[in-house]
Formats: sequence, C-alpha cells, structure tokens
Amino acid sequence: MATQQPNSAAAGDVSSAAPAAIPRTGSLPGDPISQRFEHLIEQVHEHRPTENPAPIRKAWDFCVRFHEGQRRASGEPYIIHPLEVAEVLAEMKLDATAIAAGLLHDAVEDTPVTTDEIATEFGEQVAHIVEGVTKIDKIQFANREDRQAENVRKMLLAMVSDVRVVLIKLADRLHNMRTLEHLKPERREAIARETLDIYAPLAHRLGMGKVRGELEDLAFRYTDPVSYQQVAEAVEARRQDGQQFMAQVEETIREQLRENNIEARVEWRIKRLYSIWQKLLKSQVGVDQVFDLLAIRIITQTKTDCYAALGLIHMLWRPVPGRVKDFIAIPRANLYQSLHTTVMGENGHQFEVQIRTEEMHKIAEEGIAAHWKYKAGESVISARDEQRLAWVRQLVDWQREMTDPNEFLSSLKMDLYPEEVYTFTPRGKVVIVPADGTPVDFAYTVHTEVGHTCVGAKVNGRMVPLRTKLRNGDIVEIITQNGHTPSRDWLTFAKSPRARNKIKHWLNENQRLRAIEVGRKLLEREARKFKVPMNRIEDTDLARLAGDYGLATATDLLAGVGFGKQSARQILNRLAPELMLTTPEEAEAAPETGAAAMSEAVRRLHLTGSDSLQVEGQNDLLVYRARCCNPIRGEEIVGYVTRGKGVAVHARSCPNVQNLLYESDRRIAVEWAPTASEVAGRAQRYPVRITVHCDDRSGMLKEMTAIISSDDTNIRAVETRDGANGEAIVEFVVEAEDVRHLNRMVTGLRRLPGVREVQRAQKV
Ligand code: MN
Repeated sequence: MATQQPNSAAAGDVSSAAPAAIPRTGSLPGDPISQRFEHLIEQVHEHRPTENPAPIRKAWDFCVRFHEGQRRASGEPYIIHPLEVAEVLAEMKLDATAIAAGLLHDAVEDTPVTTDEIATEFGEQVAHIVEGVTKIDKIQFANREDRQAENVRKMLLAMVSDVRVVLIKLADRLHNMRTLEHLKPERREAIARETLDIYAPLAHRLGMGKVRGELEDLAFRYTDPVSYQQVAEAVEARRQDGQQFMAQVEETIREQLRENNIEARVEWRIKRLYSIWQKLLKSQVGVDQVFDLLAIRIITQTKTDCYAALGLIHMLWRPVPGRVKDFIAIPRANLYQSLHTTVMGENGHQFEVQIRTEEMHKIAEEGIAAHWKYKAGESVISARDEQRLAWVRQLVDWQREMTDPNEFLSSLKMDLYPEEVYTFTPRGKVVIVPADGTPVDFAYTVHTEVGHTCVGAKVNGRMVPLRTKLRNGDIVEIITQNGHTPSRDWLTFAKSPRARNKIKHWLNENQRLRAIEVGRKLLEREARKFKVPMNRIEDTDLARLAGDYGLATATDLLAGVGFGKQSARQILNRLAPELMLTTPEEAEAAPETGAAAMSEAVRRLHLTGSDSLQVEGQNDLLVYRARCCNPIRGEEIVGYVTRGKGVAVHARSCPNVQNLLYESDRRIAVEWAPTASEVAGRAQRYPVRITVHCDDRSGMLKEMTAIISSDDTNIRAVETRDGANGEAIVEFVVEAEDVRHLNRMVTGLRRLPGVREVQRAQKV
C-alpha cells in the first residue's frame, strides 16, 4: 500500500491511509447540494443494500421545504447542516431511520414543525429520536467540573432510550465544530469547552475513536489557541524529518511481513494534536522531547498475526521497556483492542507501533456504531468479557441474541444506569438521586440545610408532593422555609443513604436536646424542693457522676434524666448528700410548689392527637395516652415521665395518678394542642367505651343508636347482655372528638326514657 502525503488540515485526520474521510462541505460540481444528497443515498445503498431509501428522500423534501431561506452563521444555506449530519451518520453505516431522523434533527427546534407531525409523516421511531435530540439541545450545561461532566455524560446515556439519539447528537456536534470559526469568539470557546467536557469523552466511552479524535482537535484549537499553535508548529517542524524516516520504516516492515507470510496493511500517521498535548501535560516535558509523535499501524487479518507481527517488530528494533501493552488480551472498557509497543529506531527516533486486526480497527475507529455491522457470533468482541464494563457487555450480549442487525439497532435500549436518576436544578446543575428518589433526596443532595428546611417542591414548574418519584431529566426546585424541620414521615420515602442519615441524625439529635432540657429542669426543680443551692450542681460534678453511670458527659447524664433513665433525686443525693436531710416523704408533704412550678419549669407538651400522641414539632419524644384511663381531648390531664418508656398521659381523675404522686418529680405538665389535628378532613377521634344500664324493652337499642348517630358519631362496636332485675346492659364503643362531644352523647342517652345509668368505662 502506497504511503500518501499526510495532509496538513490542522483538525483533520492525518493518517496516511485512513478509511474514507468523513465527507466535507461542497466538493461536487453542478448543484452541489442535490448532488451531495444523491451521493448520500448511494452510500446508504452501498452499506445497506436492502434498506428502503424512501424515508430519507421524504425527510430531505421536508427539510428543503422547512429550512427554506434559513442560513447558517457561515452564510451557507441552512440545509447544509442536516445534510452533513446525515452524511456523518451514513458514514457510520446507520439505518434509514437514523438518517431520516438526522435530517430532521433540527426541524422541531428551528421550524414550525411539531413532533406530532413528524410522527404522522415518518412514524413513531423517527419522531422519538428527533424528540430525544431536541431534548438534549435544551439542557444547559452549567458546570464545567470534571465530575459534573462525567455525570452529564452518564445522564445523556441514561436519558435517551435509543442509542441513535446520541449518535445524531455527536454527528450534529461534529458539524458544528467544523464550522465553529463563523461564530463569535465567546460562543466558540463555550461550545469548544462543552465539546471537550462532554461530547468527546462521550464518543470515547462509546468507543468511537475517530469522532472523538476529530472533536478533540477541533475543540483544542479554540479552548487553548496558544498551546494548539505551539503543538501544531512543533509537529510541522518534525514532519519533514519524520516523513522520510517513517517511509523507510514502513517499507522495512512491509518487507518483513511479506517474507513471513503475514498479510497486513501498514500505515503511519502523526498523532493527533490534542493527544500529543495531553501527553505533554502528563509527562511535563517540552514538545521537542515528546518521543512518539509518530505512530505506525499494522492491521492484520488474524489475532495470531498480531502477535507474530509484534515479534517481528521487536526483532527489528529494540522495544522501550514498560511500553509494551496487550489490549488484545485485556481490552479496554470501551472494547478497544490492540497491541501497543514503542521502539527505538535509527538516529534515536522513537516511534509507537499499534497492531490489530481489521475488526479491532473498525471497533477502535467506530465503536458502538461498528457493533451492528457484524453478524452474530463471529465478532472479536465476544472474548474476554471479564475486563469490560457491564454495559458494554450488555450491548454485546444483545448483539449476539439478535440475528438481524436492524433488530438489534432498533431494540437497543440504553438503560445503562438503572440505579440512578439524573435531575437538574433550575440553573442546570445535575443532581443524581437513586432510582425512585424524591424531592427530599434531591434537597439533601444539594445541601443538608436545604433538606432540613424543605417544605415543598416544584418539578418541571409544577408543585408536587415531597414523596413524588423523580425521573430522568426532571427540573426540580425545592421550596424551603426557615425554621422548618425534618419529619419522621420522610423516612418512609427518602431513598438516598445521605438523606436518610441526615434525617435520622436530626431526629435523634433533636430528641436528645429536648431530653437534656427536660433533665436539667427536673434536676433544678428537685434542688429547689430540697433547698440545695444551685451552685452545688456544677457541670464538672455532673461529668464526674456521669462516669459512675457509665455515661461519657454531663449532658449525657442530663439526657438520661430527661428520658427517665436516671432519677433526679438520686443524682442530687450523690452530689450533695449532706444537704439532702429531708426524706422523700417529708418532701412530698412539703408545700406543693409542684404543678405550678412544673408548668413554668418544663415547657408544656402540646398533645396533637392521634393514638400515639405526639408532642408538637417533636415526633420522637414518646408520649402516649395511658391505657388505664384513655384520656380524650378536653379532659384535664397530667403527664408522668416513666422509666424508659416516655411520657404517659393520664386523666387527672385517674386513680393511678394518686399513686404516682409520691414521685412528683416525674410529673410533667401537658396540655392538648389548641386545635385538633385533622386526619383526612376529619378531626382526630378517640374510641370511648360507654356502658348503659336500661330497661329491657323492644326498640331501646334502636333509640340509643339513633341518639348517638345524630351527632355524627361513629359507633365502632355494640354489645348487649342481660343484667339483674330485668335490666339490660349495652356497651358501646363510640368515637368521640373531645370531652364535650362525649358529654353531649351521655346527656342525650340519660334523657332517654328507660335509661337508668350511663357510665364511661376507663378502659376501651
Ligand atoms: Mn443541529
């Protein structure tokens, strides 16, 4: 194979014998645009003889009509852009659907055409792909951080359900980069930067070495013009020298291969400017010291020949130690396979040699686009799955299962990151939440404080409940409110470990803070009662005492008192035994400063209802209605700090309360919250058992039921039995809203003729 003069197009492929270059603007005579389109059709036919070109022609007519009169920044007719995108796609050997979609990719964005019209005219698949491309166009990539860019790439892959969307987007970007010079300098740099951050690595990830290389070199020119110039000049200076040398090397290799009966193509190239620059940055040497600007490529027919060729090379030139790499045995994550070695040539010229088979070469150049070009089973990519990323393996598996490459292509769903959902802040920053993640997960990912104070969320501009599951591409806005705090309820739907930990931590911390507060008040109250001077309760003493209880700090001890695990009196006894002269009995008999002092000392607990009572704004301090008396809203109540079980709330009239009084330091003031909490539009109701003694006559039960129901009261259970003296005993379990509601019922029942006695049972 003859070596061609490497062309000097700065951004182009400088291979000496690269496969047909991706077509460029305006090279045909006559009506160049129509001719180029006809050439496109020919190319598709060449690659896919069975493909029906009708959709491509139809899409072209559509394009011509709707982009009529539009011009690009370069002054060219706009139609050149979709045409060139389609040409790049044809070069990738894609199907008619992809090429039609490529022609139409800007139609929804830039013309009055709607997705629905495209669906009607071209079918759902084309419409779906065009929609995907349009969607990507709308994303604003706000952040340039590397990690962020990686997220965006993953998001792009996760978001699109058809790989052709990504390929069209890459083709689109390629043409835009080729014509970037026509834009204003600021726009140029931004687009070039985005290309380096997102699109070139995306192409790399998909194994599309050729597209990646061109994107990188085009972008390099605009993101860092000074370095670009420097590298380009250095390469140019060494080109003359290198050219002769490489021609010789190439000839030597070709001879040796012939003598050894190895069938292979040999080509040489100057490496891409951007990859040379990356190497310079990494090795921190001047461009004149970069040894392998030059690279030889040997493309064989079989894998065995690759290794044989490597042996030949190493016999001809001395390999540089540490530079031999076997990517055939261990392919790269993107399926790249090749043998690499760097050898020392005559005159101290080092050069790199890459050896691979034709198939490996195609995959290296075209990546994912190459996968559907091979029949199932025979592709080199079936070997060595171990080292590959799971998603690539999945692609290969699918390919094996499909006998028809078109079927493979059209059924290819890019569900590459099913465990993550990619969402955006309103300013375009990517926020990753786990699958089924909610706005709460989003909020905690943004910032802990945003999580703690979040009260609501807008998704794509609409208010949604906090438990809403987010989807890829959602734009999420969190509404916060100062002073708002996390709710235990969030744990039922928050998915990310971070959010869950933060919520739990806050709840625990808050519960503890309250316990410490309560503990300190209890201790102070006890001290007042026994006339122990407050200065006897020093934190240092408490800290010492804490050790005796196996606790770490004074606050741990106070928390223990607050939770009811340690007794305030005991602690006081140990802190100031000589002052604790009064016995508990005497103390109890002492003037009752109790209830009043208590209510001042201890912040009142507001009961907000429900079966497990809650203290307002505080779900974690366990407060419950004592089972012995089941107090209901409106009744006078007292709280009692139990040992380790939280606060029991009793009716003041409950007989047990009297027994509890001797440990009055455990009493705590509680009150009902000013308004009943509403559950499903209805005030919280409490079950109450009512026992009615009445005459045993017909219709009695019906009349009683009517009276109870007349007040919109639900009856949970009714039970009747015979009593003594011809008396009937009826027990109702009714739902009472509060004590007034209950009293109305009881009064109504008492007025009923034949009713002798109505009692409320303490237990339910
Ligand atoms: Mn476009």
